[in-house]
Amino acid sequence: MAHFAQELIRAKRDGRALTGDELRWVVGGITDGGLSDAQVAAFAMAVFFRGLEPEERAAFTAAMRDSGRVLSWREITDRPVLDKHSTGGVGDKVSLPLAAILAAAGAAVPMISGRGLGHTGGTLDKLESIPGYATAPDHDRFRGVVAEVGCAIIGQTGDLVPADKRLYAIRDAAGSVESIPLIVASILSKKLAAGLDGLVMDVKHGDGAFMADLGRARELARSLVDVARANGLPTVAVLTDMNSVLGSTAGNAVEVVESIAMLTEPDVADPRLVAVTLELAERLLEPHGLDPARARETLDDGTAAERFAAMVAALGGPADLLERPQRHLPLAPIVGPVHAETAGWVAAHATRDVGVAVMALGGGRRVESARIDHAVGFSAIAPVGAEVGPDQPLAIVHARDEASFRAAAASLRAAITVGEPTALVPAITEVLG
Ligand code: URA
Repeated sequence: MAHFAQELIRAKRDGRALTGDELRWVVGGITDGGLSDAQVAAFAMAVFFRGLEPEERAAFTAAMRDSGRVLSWREITDRPVLDKHSTGGVGDKVSLPLAAILAAAGAAVPMISGRGLGHTGGTLDKLESIPGYATAPDHDRFRGVVAEVGCAIIGQTGDLVPADKRLYAIRDAAGSVESIPLIVASILSKKLAAGLDGLVMDVKHGDGAFMADLGRARELARSLVDVARANGLPTVAVLTDMNSVLGSTAGNAVEVVESIAMLTEPDVADPRLVAVTLELAERLLEPHGLDPARARETLDDGTAAERFAAMVAALGGPADLLERPQRHLPLAPIVGPVHAETAGWVAAHATRDVGVAVMALGGGRRVESARIDHAVGFSAIAPVGAEVGPDQPLAIVHARDEASFRAAAASLRAAITVGEPTALVPAITEVLG
C-alpha cells in the first residue's frame, strides 16, 4: 500500500499506533531523503508527545538497524560477542577498563562509541588524546583487532544506522531529543547493527547524567531491556548514580590516565569507579557462560591491563602507553591545585556544573562539529566524604592559560560543597534484567 508522510504524521499526532510496515516506510524516508527535514521533525515531535507502543518501539528500532550495514561476527566462534553502552555522565570512563576486562575474561568486544556532547564526555574524545590511536580504522582492521586482541573501541562508522545520523541531528535541532522511544531506537539500533550476542546498559541518573530523574531513567532502562530483547539481543540494565563525579578525573587525557591507573594499580583506584566497572562486567559475563569472578581477577593479575595495551598498540597508539602515559598524552601548560575557602569535608558535588566547567576549559563541546582540547580538565577531584583543607585540595586544574585556570578554579569551588562528614550513596542503584 502506498504511504504518505503527512498521513502517517497526522496518524501519530492523533495517537494511532503505526504498523511495522508504516514505520519501516518512515525510516526508509528518513534514510533516503524521501521525507523532508520538516516531515522528519514533525514525525519526531508527534512521537515525543504521543509515544510509541511496545510493538511500535521494537519495529521502529529494527527498521533503524536495517537502514545500513548490519555486522556479523561469524568468524568468532569460540567467544560471545559482548558490549556495553552508557547513557553518559561526568567522569564516566568505564568503557576503557571494561572493554579490556571483558576481553581478558574471554569475550570479544567490538565497542562502537560516541563523542561527548554538552556536559558529559565521550569515550571517543578520551581515546583521541592517545597519539596515533585510530578511532576510525577500516572495517577489516577493526575486525582483525577484535579477533586478535579481544577488544577494539572505535567511533561510529558512516554505514551503520544512517537513519540515526539524520534523525538525531533533526531531533537535536528541533527539540525532541528527550523522547524515551526515540532514545531507545537511537541507542539500540546501533547496538543491534553491531551484531552482538549480549549487551549491558549503564543507565545513569542524578545531577551529572543526561537523564537526571531516577523515575525517567528507570523508564528508559526498562524500555531498553524490553526493546533489545524483542529484537533478539539479551540485555541487562544497571542504574547507576551520577550525583557525584565518577572517579577522580573529568576531561579527556586525564581520564585516560585514570583508566590506565585503574588497570595497573586497581587497589588504589576510586572504589566507585571499580564498583561500576565490575558490576557491568559481571552482569555481562555470567549469562554468556563466562565466569563473573574473572572480572576482578583480570584486574588483579594484570591481564586486563595487558589487553588494553595490546588494543592501543594494534590501533596505532604507543606500545609503551601503560608504562609511560605522561610521556605520550597531551599535557596542559597550567596545572595547579584549587583549594576550598574553608576546611571541612566534601558534602556534595554539583556534578553537572563540574562537566560544564570542563567544557568551559575547552575539554567538551557545545556543538557536534566543535574541536576540543584533550589536555585540559580536572584530576584528583576530592570525592564526597573526603577531608579538604590547606593541604588537601578540591582538585587539580589542568588549563590552557591563566585566565581559564582562574575561571575553572572558581567554578569548581562553587560546584563542590564543603561541610560536615557525609556518607557516599552507593554507586549501583538497581539492576533490571
Ligand atoms: N544517545 C544516543 O545515541 N541517542 C539518543 O537519542 C540519546 C543518547
